Amino acid sequence: MRAAAAGVGCPATTSRNNAMLPSADIQCPYCGEWIEILIDDSAGDQQYIEDCQVCCSPINIAVRIDEDGVAQAVASAENEA
Ligand SMILES: [Zn+2]
Repeated sequence: MRAAAAGVGCPATTSRNNAMLPSADIQCPYCGEWIEILIDDSAGDQQYIEDCQVCCSPINIAVRIDEDGVAQAVASAENEA
């Protein structure tokens, strides 16, 4: 008998408890859910992989800081470089 798969396999997304970081909403390219991410805007433009909080797929996140200092995040599927 197997245990139900619910909730298994998704390592808890690191809960960053930093109210100083701006957040951005991105849409998961896999499941279409909107998720909120925190952006370390002090690091400038950056690109990284973050697991979707809903479907746990790796999302390629590209962050750009615009001229007003506002962080813009763009999500894409990891395999579409
Ligand atoms: Zn997802």
